[in-house]
Amino acid sequence: MLFAQERPRALRDFTIPRSSFEPCYRATYRSGLLEAKREQALRMLERCRVCPRHCEVDRLRDEVGTCRTGRYAWVASYGPHLGEEDCLRGWNGSGTIFFSHCNLKCVFCQNWDISRIGEGKPATPERIAAIMLALQEAGCHNINFVTPEHVVPQIVEALAIAIPQGLRLPLVYNTSAYDSLESLRLMEGLVDIYMPDFKFWDPDVAGKYVKARDYPEAARAAIKEMHRQVGPLVFDEQGLALRGVLVRHLVMPNGLAGTREIMRWLAREVSADTYVNIMDQYHPAGMAHRYPAINRPITSQEYEEALAAAQEAGLWRFDVRWLWRLPRWR
Ligand code: SF4
Repeated sequence: MLFAQERPRALRDFTIPRSSFEPCYRATYRSGLLEAKREQALRMLERCRVCPRHCEVDRLRDEVGTCRTGRYAWVASYGPHLGEEDCLRGWNGSGTIFFSHCNLKCVFCQNWDISRIGEGKPATPERIAAIMLALQEAGCHNINFVTPEHVVPQIVEALAIAIPQGLRLPLVYNTSAYDSLESLRLMEGLVDIYMPDFKFWDPDVAGKYVKARDYPEAARAAIKEMHRQVGPLVFDEQGLALRGVLVRHLVMPNGLAGTREIMRWLAREVSADTYVNIMDQYHPAGMAHRYPAINRPITSQEYEEALAAAQEAGLWRFDVRWLWRLPRWR
């Protein structure tokens, strides 16, 4: 463990004792609300409005809309993941479950095989519950649902099985933020850590690059709702995330993401204490070669300008790598 004074302030000032923490879904289960949520989740599949696309197809009959996912979620892969933020991966990994397909259509998607081609297999709720319990058994620090926006009902179904069987890890909802408020309210009392991307500020840019002009508006509403539910990100004594919102933002070439506007909005409309990971790893993938403005990585100057914009906006809790300072990581 790092001594308190050695730890970045972004961790130190937002620490709660692990001994006082219990994932919120345990109380939801004890109150009897979990079963009601499961029933509500299944009804949402009937005329699907699970995400802002509002396809209104009957997924209980295996009809599919934009996300190409019917009655059952598809799982592409799962396992302990050491590539996430330090506060999630810790030393044993974040227990990621990658869902196939997606409700966004990012032309630069880095996981094209999973999101567009749909690599993976259908998974029953029993199977997803078994995966969660196996990840817990493997020592992962949390369960991390990657691309969950279109399979929220199926996740709730699986939780209704896994929680009574002893699931006790915090849940991470790892999303593009193209979520409906109905889905997020269903997840209230189940999810402790929301990890939304905020990809683009401008509707025209979003329409062009993720095929959803309403993305910025949906993302703003979603992130506000997430913050209302769980507040700013807090950690345990070892720096592992327990509860709260962690916003990711991928800096795009030519200022296309609208970083300055996004950071100002986060600081003013959500909280200046919002924990933010400003990411520099954009590289052209998927169909990005067809779009000249995004057909290159970002420059170091573009990244520096993004960081400066976030600081000027008043944000101060930025994700930094710190685990290398732990003796066991040297
Ligand atoms: S979850 Fe899929 S089917 Fe439902 S509204 Fe969204 S894209 Fe359409």
